[in-house]
Amino acid sequence: MTIWEAMPGNRARVIVMNNALGPLDYRVPHGMQVEPGSIVIAPLGPRQLVGVVWEPERLPTEEVGDNRLRNLIGLVDAPPIPAPLRRLVEWTADYYLSPLPSVLRMCLSSSAALEGSPTIVEYRATGLVPKRMTEQREQALERIGDRQGLVRELAAIADVSDAVIRGLVKVGAIESVLVEADTPYPLPDPNFAPPDLSPDQASVASILRQAVGAETFQPFLLDGVTGSGKTEVYFEAIAAALAAGKQTLVLLPEIALTEPFLTRFTRRFGCEPVAWHSDLRQSQRRRAWRAIASGEAKVAVGARSALFLPYADLGLIVVDEAHETSFKQEEGVHYHARDVAVMRGLFEQAPVVLATATPAIETRHQVQLGRYEELKLPGRYGPADLPHVEAIDMIQEPPERGRWLAPRLVKGMQATLERDEQVLLFLNRRGYAPLTLCRVCGHRLQCPNCTAWMVEHRLLGRLACHHCGHSYPTPRECPECESEDSLAACGPGVERVADEVRELFPDKKVAIVTSDTLWSPQKAAEFVQRMEHGDIDIVVGTQLVTKGYHFPNLTLVGVVDADLGLGGGDLRAAERTFQQICQVSGRAGRGEKPGTVLIQTHCPDADVMKALVTGDSEAFYEAETEQRRDAHAPPFGRYAAIIVSSEDKAAAEDVARRIGKSRPELEEMHVFGPAPAPLAMLRGRHRFRLLVHARRAFDVQDVIREWLGALEWPAKVRVAVDVDPYSFL
Ligand SMILES: [Zn+2]
Ligand SMILES: [Zn+2]
Repeated sequence: MTIWEAMPGNRARVIVMNNALGPLDYRVPHGMQVEPGSIVIAPLGPRQLVGVVWEPERLPTEEVGDNRLRNLIGLVDAPPIPAPLRRLVEWTADYYLSPLPSVLRMCLSSSAALEGSPTIVEYRATGLVPKRMTEQREQALERIGDRQGLVRELAAIADVSDAVIRGLVKVGAIESVLVEADTPYPLPDPNFAPPDLSPDQASVASILRQAVGAETFQPFLLDGVTGSGKTEVYFEAIAAALAAGKQTLVLLPEIALTEPFLTRFTRRFGCEPVAWHSDLRQSQRRRAWRAIASGEAKVAVGARSALFLPYADLGLIVVDEAHETSFKQEEGVHYHARDVAVMRGLFEQAPVVLATATPAIETRHQVQLGRYEELKLPGRYGPADLPHVEAIDMIQEPPERGRWLAPRLVKGMQATLERDEQVLLFLNRRGYAPLTLCRVCGHRLQCPNCTAWMVEHRLLGRLACHHCGHSYPTPRECPECESEDSLAACGPGVERVADEVRELFPDKKVAIVTSDTLWSPQKAAEFVQRMEHGDIDIVVGTQLVTKGYHFPNLTLVGVVDADLGLGGGDLRAAERTFQQICQVSGRAGRGEKPGTVLIQTHCPDADVMKALVTGDSEAFYEAETEQRRDAHAPPFGRYAAIIVSSEDKAAAEDVARRIGKSRPELEEMHVFGPAPAPLAMLRGRHRFRLLVHARRAFDVQDVIREWLGALEWPAKVRVAVDVDPYSFL
């Protein structure tokens, strides 16, 4: 490696996995060979840390004399982090104002992958019933079922301590199994089942195939209504990458979408791609990470964390449902996976396809500027037409007292069910009721750690905070005035709507679909099967059911509360509502039968509702874009949020005020705040926000880096910067 001319002798500059430290120099011991990207074990005081060797000229630091260098301890047996990914790590750290180790940690996200042994000991139930059965043992065996994993993983699945699992091993109810972690993956076959494409699809597919062949960076917006066959089209680009021996990364906004994707992929390519998500066992993570790093895994699909994996030879990136805001990470490194995916394409010299039926205004703007090429798929593919959409004015046609479904929606459901077709009711709210209050004293049950109401989950008999996870059994008496049976549920969640549906249609089968019921790809697969077999008549679900699914017999979609996303003063509220309802509407009538969408709203005259009914998305987008332009909001201006938090309120407030006082006076930039955040308390921490608003071309990162760099604050105060924020809480 000639690069080492920059570091004479046997030195290496290393980024160690510690956010507080800059790059450190080490001595490379005799017999060890490292290069930029090598993953090493480095000593730090008495500890050993994982680190990555970096080009010294890219990370200037104070030179340390040879005599003070410590030896590297070991070289991890894994391919070095490739150069394009190293450049992406640098860019991400710089753009999102994050420490390099935080970003690098996302590339090394599987510690098991870095450890020596390719065999892992896992555990599974033997079927033997222990002589001494305790409640915990029973719970463990029941929940584990036929699953397999480390002691720690099984304990987590069963919600018991490690000791319970170990006890079960001792008595023979659970046994160990040796797992070969590095068995190769089957190779997807680009010619397994080529599709019949419409002429429109074929011409778009051919453009994408050419782009893959060109092996250069080229961003595309693949724009087509739901059901227009975007997936089949980008599958052809994947086929081209496979034929060229290159890797593809497909990003999905959430794990629940993985399952339908895997099924479609297998039908086209004969085997599953490599899935990467948080539900993987340690052995699966190791296998996937190493196969991706070696280049053996040709197609990887995953949520945003799959973006930072060390692909050996990436030839194509697809971001599906690219408008989804869940691509934005809201803690740690506050990156937006859609935007970072485009940067990765640039560093890898590979085409990037952003697929969506409802592009983000930011993405449409890139098309208008000529930076992204737009590929449009007109109309639905096959016999299906776009669904018929109507708004129900909830003031003119209110539901009966104590109910949430308007008579017209109920009538529509009835007619649909009589034809033996399926209904989907969409309400983006988990649980039974969003607020519980005491009828006697008016007390509202609030989370002790957050500025948020406790949400009732009646199926579990618990109240839960959706921000911090705090939960406890639903009390019988008011915690304030101690009146019995005085607590009343206010407003509907999916469970409550499902109750109403069961009352209205007692002989129909109802399923609730939320992250509470569909928390793993396996559960999602079960749901799909039940829908396809007609084991479900009515689905009541959150945004989890709005995307990716294709149920030909689902012909009526009811939006229970279309106004839900409009409050809160979020700059993207109308856009998000439009996208979400378009998505869920797209579930209706995907087969030969026509679909209908009924939208319950209190403001049928709002632009977004009118656009949904007329289907005139162009007019809606244009009006929204103009408003953003007038307000110098993204993409015409830019924001960055500075969030100051601490368990000590006074300390947080003091630091926030000092940051506000030392704001740089610049014409191109305006600072709002500090002010208590709308979520003034989160997970026990008090929060204050400042919002920086700047012109588009202004280097706001540089200014913030210098501004905050000049200040100091106590360790109990955390200052986070969110560049291009999506959450304004
Ligand atoms: Zn009370
Ligand atoms: Zn909470």
